[in-house]
Amino acid sequence: MTVTQSEALAALHRVFGYEAFRGEQEAVIEHVVAGGDAVVLMPTGGGKSLCYQIPALVRPGTGVVVSPLIALMQDQVDALRALGVRAGFMNSTQDFDERRVVEAEFLAGELDLLYLAPERLRLDSTLDLLSRGKISVFAIDEAHCVSQWGHDFRPDYLMLSLLGERWPDVPRIALTATATHATHREITERLNMPTARHFVASFDRPNIQYRIVPKADPRKQLLSFLREEHPGDAGIVYCLSRNSVEKTAEFLTRNGIEAVPYHAGLDAGTRAAHQARFLREDGLVVVATIAFGMGIDKPDVRFVAHLDLPKSVEGYYQETGRAGRDGLPSTAWMAYGLGDVIQQRKLIQSGEGDESFRRRAGQHLDAMLALCETVRCRRGQLLAYFGQDPDPAGCGNCDTCLTPPETWDGTVAAQKVLSTVVRLQRERGQKFGAVQIVDILLGRRTAKVIQFDHDQLSVFGIGEELTEAEWRGVVRQLLAQGLLAVEGEYGTLVLTEASGAVLRREREVPLRKEPKKPVTSRSGGSGPSGSGRGERKAKAAAAELPAALVPAFEALRAWRAEQAREQGVPAYVIFHDATLREIVTVWPTSVAELGGISGVGEKKLATYGEGVVAVLGALGGPSGAAVEAEAGRAEAPPHAAGEEARGDRGDQEDWPGFETEPEPEPDWA
Ligand code: ADP
Ligand code: ZN
Repeated sequence: MTVTQSEALAALHRVFGYEAFRGEQEAVIEHVVAGGDAVVLMPTGGGKSLCYQIPALVRPGTGVVVSPLIALMQDQVDALRALGVRAGFMNSTQDFDERRVVEAEFLAGELDLLYLAPERLRLDSTLDLLSRGKISVFAIDEAHCVSQWGHDFRPDYLMLSLLGERWPDVPRIALTATATHATHREITERLNMPTARHFVASFDRPNIQYRIVPKADPRKQLLSFLREEHPGDAGIVYCLSRNSVEKTAEFLTRNGIEAVPYHAGLDAGTRAAHQARFLREDGLVVVATIAFGMGIDKPDVRFVAHLDLPKSVEGYYQETGRAGRDGLPSTAWMAYGLGDVIQQRKLIQSGEGDESFRRRAGQHLDAMLALCETVRCRRGQLLAYFGQDPDPAGCGNCDTCLTPPETWDGTVAAQKVLSTVVRLQRERGQKFGAVQIVDILLGRRTAKVIQFDHDQLSVFGIGEELTEAEWRGVVRQLLAQGLLAVEGEYGTLVLTEASGAVLRREREVPLRKEPKKPVTSRSGGSGPSGSGRGERKAKAAAAELPAALVPAFEALRAWRAEQAREQGVPAYVIFHDATLREIVTVWPTSVAELGGISGVGEKKLATYGEGVVAVLGALGGPSGAAVEAEAGRAEAPPHAAGEEARGDRGDQEDWPGFETEPEPEPDWA
């Protein structure tokens, strides 16, 4: 072991309380500590932060972290301070005095890590300040923000290429969870890091179960999914429009699941308050547009649900990736149907942008649709999309692996749909949407069918062998496969170049069978039972713990909630669920024994060691806790999950919005 390696490992043990490095962490850290530049692609939850935090601790000077996530800086810094790391930040939420304190600490060499927004780094005053201190490493977090094609583009990221010129001896590390080759290349070029070493981790998130269900009544489907599988769990529900965000949040709340909305139409104060509640409370649901989520490093998000189709596989992967950063079982659930395909195709056509932009958007959508319609392993398809090799045997933890879908030869059905479209157009000069096409195939004399004499068409009633849902499934899959297209603001159906081959019987059309009854419950067993409405206890986090240990786990969570409230930090800053699980499993009887547990570093041991041992001691050992629970005498912990969640918090005004920093004040101010 080199000196660097042993120093890095010592910091890992002492500060973070972790046993060993994960995956690429060790290689990245060794390279950066030695002064090399690095571009790191690692999935959410992969452990990117340590890749720059440890070099910052090991190398002399302060590590400067550039991050666009102003609203989260306070939490990041709080979490580091709880570990005994000397961290600070500078952004527009601070007043002059607060900032001066941080500046002085930096100049005196008293900071291990300094977080900055890119807008601030751009200022001459900031650059000047930085050149008067000693910098150990520059970390460029969320580095995909430099990409002009992504929806997270931040113009100020472009100037970060100057860091290398101005500080040629300070290593730079750029990190992102965005996996595509194009973004990867763009980061390297735009940040001017031609000699950087590249580290690409596996993008598999094995603890996330991927499921895509046919959309029928999405809000109700969501409700039963949450009730059956995630009662009391924290999670994110993504919707396309602000209106459906509001309605869904209301619907959930009305049905006993506490949920708050988040979208760009809400004022900054409300958004900040909702985000803060999500981070601080246990088991709150946020219903949001894609405006929510970047940098949310809450480790115990147990599910991410999509009520509408994301625009790309990248988006889907990033959004679902916010679940289960702590490595515990989590679900990525999506309801998807014909309406989604039509809506997204229409959006692309009527949207802004030139032809090449549209083509690219169309390609992104096609890849997303292929993921939805695949009969193969979803995880396999995701990994292959990011250029990684999936397990050919399947993952065993996605819906298609758990309940393999059946396929059928849909060639004749496809021909029936396509000839209906052709006949309407050739014989009548008309174009219609999916509803009318299906009504014609089913031989329904609806008002609209009669109005247009469509019962006179030769194709009227030729499709009685399938149900309406099945026909919609056929249309959806034809759209997904590019054998049918959508046109205009009404979403009328038209043929594509590829349609001809089907009509001429030159090709077959294999289709995925529509499940008779949508699979809504987790097929992996361990289904929770008897959970009351809105009961805010983390089922998934406690799942897989022996029943005898659950009361102790809950008692520790209650103790943690109390600590968090007293200190005004999110609960996970105290200890992660995963650490609490290990604590109850090991059941340490002394502070020294507690020190051996993953996630318990020196500082946390000193701060919380006695508290934890006391909580366990009061329960009288694992068997004692079990006996009490069985006898039904286990007292509700003083601040049970539900109660703590609604506790008063006067600190919300202090929460900055999830915003780009406003124009910085002029230097002379
Ligand atoms: P990312 O920024 O890549 O999404 P984080 O840096 O937040 O991921 O790390 C994800 C989780 O994994 C965190 O809870 C972190 O504490 C934990 N973690 C990271 N590295 C290790 C390690 N070597 N051993 C144990 N836990 C780790
Ligand atoms: Zn699978």
